Amino acid sequence: MLKSQNKNLDYYNYFQSNQEKNGLEFVLNLRSKNHGKNVLFIAGIHGNESAPVAAMLRLHKTLSLDTSILKTGEISFLLGNPMAFLENRRCLKHNINRSIDGGVNPNDPELQRQLEIKKYFKENNFDLIIDFHTILNGEFRLVVFEKNQSLGLPFLVQTCNIGYFANFQNQFKTGSLLSEFIGKKNTSAFGMECGNNKSIKSISIAFDQMVGSLEYLGLIEKNTIPKMKQLDNSESIQIFDIRENISIKPGFNYIDENVKTGTFLKKGQIYATYDGGYNIAHEDMNLLLPVNKPSLNSNYAGYLAKMYRFKR
Ligand SMILES: [Zn+2]
Repeated sequence: MLKSQNKNLDYYNYFQSNQEKNGLEFVLNLRSKNHGKNVLFIAGIHGNESAPVAAMLRLHKTLSLDTSILKTGEISFLLGNPMAFLENRRCLKHNINRSIDGGVNPNDPELQRQLEIKKYFKENNFDLIIDFHTILNGEFRLVVFEKNQSLGLPFLVQTCNIGYFANFQNQFKTGSLLSEFIGKKNTSAFGMECGNNKSIKSISIAFDQMVGSLEYLGLIEKNTIPKMKQLDNSESIQIFDIRENISIKPGFNYIDENVKTGTFLKKGQIYATYDGGYNIAHEDMNLLLPVNKPSLNSNYAGYLAKMYRFKR
């Protein structure tokens, strides 16, 4: 068995031995005696993204060892796709984070898991949800959020040390799990790309985000849990209002091969070509590029967005 698979097996077993008997499987719960906010952290929706799962267990262990730390409210930790996680694969057959390839099939464990998670969302009132992800190549970090929810920029500026925040025309991506919360004003939901899955920084970003969020909402007192602090706060914050997906077609290439996240495109500028056509910016836009060298397998080459930048 591979080392990474071994580690995943340990985490998988930890969930199994600490989950509640009657709740959704692969969820760990911690409850204070005092009324407060209800917080859900999700990781491992993609089974090969283990760094935020490591961060969750680190926090769960810390809070379980000293139950006096949790002052108010409730915390739940959800392992999204345990079947794929056990095999250290993104998914077995179905991406749980995309309902478009869903459908209903009682014999398919991933589709069943997706239905159970959606039901769990409906049956619980969460004040805050953060869905953590990592990438396997490169070091891209981004928070996706809905601007109209009650926790927005002030929350992010205070709790998050990365500097790229994006929204899809003030919505979550269609079909994603978080899109279940579009228009639910009482639940603030965030998707977070923490960086490369192999990097300790990704564990640190997820861990510090969770601790900062619990502090912000008053579940724990400030500085009772030391942060990992493997990454300094970004100096500036860039907000991307995503207007368009850049789809990948055979022969796709950016005209300037040095384009990167933030690169400005003028209205009318041809910025990429593909076999038999080209891409043009219909307004002044900035690029948001999760991967520098998109392959035909990627969903999108990137996004066109309106970008706003400010100092912290
Ligand atoms: Zn992911």
